[in-house]
Amino acid sequence: MRPFKYSASTTINSAAQLLSANPNARILAGGTNILDLMKEDVERPDELVDINRLNLSVVKPITEGVNKGGISIGGLGKNAETANHPLIRQNFPLLTQAILAGASAQIRNMATNGGNLNQRTRCPYFYEVSMPCNKREPGTGCGAREGINRMHAIFGWSESCVAVHPSDMCVALAALDAVVKVQGSSGKVRSIPFAEYHRLPGEMPEKDNTLQHGEVVTSIEIPKNNFASKSYYLKVRDRASYAFALVSVAAAIEMNGSGIKQAWLALGGVAHKPWRAFEAERFLAGKAATADNFRQAAEMEMKQAKALEHNGFKIELGTRAIVLALTRAMNGGTA
Ligand code: SF4
Repeated sequence: MRPFKYSASTTINSAAQLLSANPNARILAGGTNILDLMKEDVERPDELVDINRLNLSVVKPITEGVNKGGISIGGLGKNAETANHPLIRQNFPLLTQAILAGASAQIRNMATNGGNLNQRTRCPYFYEVSMPCNKREPGTGCGAREGINRMHAIFGWSESCVAVHPSDMCVALAALDAVVKVQGSSGKVRSIPFAEYHRLPGEMPEKDNTLQHGEVVTSIEIPKNNFASKSYYLKVRDRASYAFALVSVAAAIEMNGSGIKQAWLALGGVAHKPWRAFEAERFLAGKAATADNFRQAAEMEMKQAKALEHNGFKIELGTRAIVLALTRAMNGGTA
């Protein structure tokens, strides 16, 4: 590992100022991703700004504003504490299921909510510094485009990058219409709708999200919903634990009598960002909650998919995963 300066902050402003003053500084929160990347020589910061002393780990109900009745989770809250908080378990079980499907118990105990959003892809070519990678080193090419790309994207990729976002938690947050609150050195708080937080790669795959350098994720707000009892997170992976998703689906349904009032669907393991399945959602609104309609919705969404050489199987897998997740959501979130 290369030498770096260690700085610790006790206020959001001082953390943001330290970061803003050094373009090559990075945040140290749970450290479960940045330290790995530094050991592999993928990330080479010359300064780490430790934000663990900031008071940003609270889970609390939102009592005013547009998200009144929802919940706010702190950017520094640990993933495990967030998943197991009674208010989250009761009102947002989709989020609990998604967090507990990710990583290992040890990592969930250390990893923070803000860090989960900002974690980097696990594309093996990104981690292997002898290989070309536009995300690690812009302009060098994409090792995965012509290489082994079984785990890579089927939606929204570009010739510059075909990586996927690795988070499970973020897939649920996308379906839950979360809002990310960030604060920079000016003290101004920005609210970013979750669908706009992460980016597609385009010509700038080195940029994962719309966070500006110097900004800190202070909290994530989740609006109130009426689908807690009809939601389900399905993760399909190569082994039962500690594996990234081949495809995952966060599904939620609000009924209106015997028909679907609205469905919320987001997919993981298929794009550079959590993929909100808007086509499928539009189709399902006002329809009966039948297996036929679930299949049609899934097929409509998957029509936009474009497979790479080794991941064509994700199209049928994704179709079936959407149908199963919707079915389980309708069954009260049980397998
Ligand atoms: Fe790098 Fe993206 Fe290509 Fe992976 S897919 S090698 S992260 S540019």
